[in-house]
Amino acid sequence: MNRIVVGIDLGTTHSLVAYRREDGQVEVVPDRQGRLLLPSVVALSKDGVRVGWSAREKVNDPETTVIYAAKRLMGRSFEETEAERRSLTYPLVDHKGSPAVPDPFRNRFLTPPEIGALVLRDLKNRAEEFLSQEVSEAVITVPAYFNDAQRQATKDAGALAGLKVLRIINEPTAAALAYGLGSGKDGLFAIFDLGGGTFDFSLLDIRKGIFEVRATNGDTHLGGEDFDRAIVAAWLEENPKLSALAERSEVRDLLRKEAERVKIALSHKTEAEVVLPAVGFRTTLTRARMNALVEPYVDRALSCVRAALADAGTATSDVDGVILVGGSTRFLRFKEAVAAFFGKPLFDSVDPDLVVAEGAAVQADILSGRRKDLLLLDVTPLSLGIETIGGVTSTLIPRNTTIPAQAKELFTTYVDGQTNVDIHVLQGEREMAKDNRSLARFTLSGVPPLPAGTPRIEVTFQIDANGILEVTAREQTTGTMSNVVIQPSYGLDKDDVRNLLKEAFSHAQEDFATRLLVDAKTEAQTVINATERALERVGSDILPDADRVAIQNQVKLLKTTMEGTDGRKVRDETQALDRLTQPLAERLMNQSLSNALSGMALPQEGGSHA
Ligand code: AMP
Repeated sequence: MNRIVVGIDLGTTHSLVAYRREDGQVEVVPDRQGRLLLPSVVALSKDGVRVGWSAREKVNDPETTVIYAAKRLMGRSFEETEAERRSLTYPLVDHKGSPAVPDPFRNRFLTPPEIGALVLRDLKNRAEEFLSQEVSEAVITVPAYFNDAQRQATKDAGALAGLKVLRIINEPTAAALAYGLGSGKDGLFAIFDLGGGTFDFSLLDIRKGIFEVRATNGDTHLGGEDFDRAIVAAWLEENPKLSALAERSEVRDLLRKEAERVKIALSHKTEAEVVLPAVGFRTTLTRARMNALVEPYVDRALSCVRAALADAGTATSDVDGVILVGGSTRFLRFKEAVAAFFGKPLFDSVDPDLVVAEGAAVQADILSGRRKDLLLLDVTPLSLGIETIGGVTSTLIPRNTTIPAQAKELFTTYVDGQTNVDIHVLQGEREMAKDNRSLARFTLSGVPPLPAGTPRIEVTFQIDANGILEVTAREQTTGTMSNVVIQPSYGLDKDDVRNLLKEAFSHAQEDFATRLLVDAKTEAQTVINATERALERVGSDILPDADRVAIQNQVKLLKTTMEGTDGRKVRDETQALDRLTQPLAERLMNQSLSNALSGMALPQEGGSHA
């Protein structure tokens, strides 16, 4: 039997599983009732755990905990979910730093990867039943702005569901694959993804089979549900009696459902009747009126698009096509607005609810080894590096590097006899470590006690095709090593990514000055230490008294300058001291001073780096 790798769209509201048939067609797998979508909802009750449609039915049952939108929590720490916690209606507790939903009936806590795993297992079972064979490998999609921790958490969810996740791919990349882009069709494509609750916009550059996300933007709280609410609000405004009734939540629910129905109906007709005898309400909604109601949302979405274009330094004229993703792109006013904004062809022939899953299936099929015509690569959304002495960031993998990627750099110690070094892994664009995101810390011990600057410590960053980062530190003479695979307890949403980039940009000048100063002081201190050590060791036979006094004076001067904030001055005076000690250094050729490795030094374990 042929090996089948499935593609899975693990969505905020819905999830789907798809595969590529022998005849080359991509097919979304239906459930027993023929439904393609699976609500990403899990319900915990006394009589068991339900997933999907049957879980969603429990939404008003007071005896049941109904978990939805768990994707918003994926790969984030408890603290990072504060804003989400305020809007979610199910309880979330701090479980070892991670957010978790208590399951009172089974005396356990469910973390976001475990919730994701329940949804994934349902899809896996669905696929196995439909295909009559075991399905154990998958490609899963995530938003382009997901960071390493969020991708790792998604991968963990797959593993918990019994799936080997061959690759995590970006949703916009999947959408492009569903349209056959990448195999011969290169260009810059805009992916406009408007769902029920979120809006994601990405610019995807496709060249020679390489998919590079050039920019992302969006709004985590903009989607079809907002339009439904806007319609309901308009009805309440024109009908005060209805407004009083809508205090009751079941009336609000009824109105919202009706608003959605009418909204969808207005895709095929220009006017729709609303008749709700239960609340004595009757009206007509025209397409023109509805369009006017959603106009503010159209503006909001387009301003995200403008920001992404600006970030990527491109104009609409550079864009070759626009791919529509998400149920709300069926809204004619949005289609029209997007078409007018770009003046480019719209890719809308694939069902916008299925397009991501279908693209994931295309990628899954490629990884199954049946097709060899496509290579799929994505990029790192933010730079990755480590902290070096003085609390500065040393970048190993710059942002927008195509993954998989590997980078190696040599570092050394700062203190004589230092046997432990602290590796602090950072993510972000700022010069100082404290301004970047801390991803992990680990210690390399067993470094031979040698003079500062002598050990050679090789730090390797390796990002696999799924964006999972492994950092390894290795002392070269002894081979002692230590490593870390980044854990999913840290998270970022795309607003954070955008803010981080904005912050880095706005602080660029002062960061540069701080960096210059810190680097200059570190360098100065290294030279002072070496000089003072040498002065202690040598007598007037090697160093004439007059030279000694000149050197001592320069050391004093440099120390005073180091108390100030002028990095250039510190650097100039360090160079002056270097010049004064040059003849002495030459004479001490065989001693440790001249052994100094001109690499960057790592902090001592637990040491202060300032
Ligand atoms: P998604 O989250 O991608 O499944 O998108 C679901 C959203 O698409 C819901 O808010 C639906 O109301 C909306 N939607 C589906 N069909 C239409 C349509 N024809 N016109 C406007 N909105 C639609």
